[in-house]
Amino acid sequence: MQDKLTLMTPGPTPVPESVLKAMGNHPIGHRSYEFEVLMKEISEQLRWLHQTNNDVLTITGSGTAAMEAGIVNTLSYKDRVLCGDNGKFGERWVEVARAYGLDVEVIKSPWGQELDPEAFRIVLEADIEKSIKAVILTHSETSTSVINDLKSINHHINMHGVAVSIVDCVTSIGVINIPMDEWGIDVICSGSQKGYMMPPGLAFIAMSQRAWKAQENSTLPKFYFDLSFYRQTSIKNSNPFTPSINLYFALKETLKIMRKEGLESIFMRHLQHSRAIQSAVQAMGLSLYAADGCRSPAVTAIQAIDFEAQSLLSLMKNNFDIVLAGGQDHLKGKIFRIGHLGFICNRDILMVVAAMEATLHNIRPNKMLQGKGLTAAINELSLKSR
Ligand SMILES: *Cc1c(COP(=O)(O)O)cnc(C)c1O
Repeated sequence: MQDKLTLMTPGPTPVPESVLKAMGNHPIGHRSYEFEVLMKEISEQLRWLHQTNNDVLTITGSGTAAMEAGIVNTLSYKDRVLCGDNGKFGERWVEVARAYGLDVEVIKSPWGQELDPEAFRIVLEADIEKSIKAVILTHSETSTSVINDLKSINHHINMHGVAVSIVDCVTSIGVINIPMDEWGIDVICSGSQKGYMMPPGLAFIAMSQRAWKAQENSTLPKFYFDLSFYRQTSIKNSNPFTPSINLYFALKETLKIMRKEGLESIFMRHLQHSRAIQSAVQAMGLSLYAADGCRSPAVTAIQAIDFEAQSLLSLMKNNFDIVLAGGQDHLKGKIFRIGHLGFICNRDILMVVAAMEATLHNIRPNKMLQGKGLTAAINELSLKSR
């Protein structure tokens, strides 16, 4: 049915109507007083969201723009870096780092497993000459629905003392607690189409004082992504280039909504929704792809063992107007993924579970007792009693 499509993909994610409407305003000049007021408010709210007093800068681009900016602003040709890789986005970090001629050492974990903080500790402690200039990793690995132990890994990076941490928090910011200053994270990258409840098009990068020090010494080529330009202009509540002004309207609105809900509530909602989906899926007799103990609150990957993942996705869309995501690379056809981050409420959770039960009943009838998943999901949600 037209206009009833529900996105339950791990990006893009659904957008509140007030955010969509905000985008429909006429653009304003980006050198105007009105834009300065807008920028000032946005910058303050972005710092709140990142739990930091550092600069949080906005680039027009998708999440990968922030990732690339993170690398080119802190590093120089042939710098030695450690990259965590346990999925598609970990691989992307390695690709970006290699594209710029960095000396990349990869710390791998199998897909579906978390990165081992001990592996980072060992390499970092062995680096007595302090040749490692950055440790680069993905917090919530969207391709496998694994959440990595950022707090522990970042602690080992801080102990090293020289390497900066550069973290892809694209599906974890606004989803799970990341106290940037308290944990001492140097660079946090994110994009608008995930936890921000916005359309794609804006990338965010938060930079610590240590990251700015690295920025001064970094010699990798950059122009549009040269964050020193963004920093200089952000002091004056301005932007070096023409920003996507209408997305800034949306950003202001969505940050207002997030602030009203509060960080604690946002994190709790995502945790409960992820638990509801995980329990429901298991009650339906399906297996989760991510290992126990490291499941992301943003997205759930589910194994498609005795049915075609693609037919489930098609039936969910054709019968229920719900869009889920498939697997990437070698997981294509082997898993499917439910995104439950951003603008998602209890109703969406029950709806997707009920629709999945109906669909699975359709494609593997003898394996399914309808209502089991729904009951499991309901038990995980905290429902008001009055
Ligand atoms: C979505 C996503 C990105 C960003 O991808 P873009 O298509 O560039 O926005 C990066 N990392 C993770 C973990 C993601 O989920």
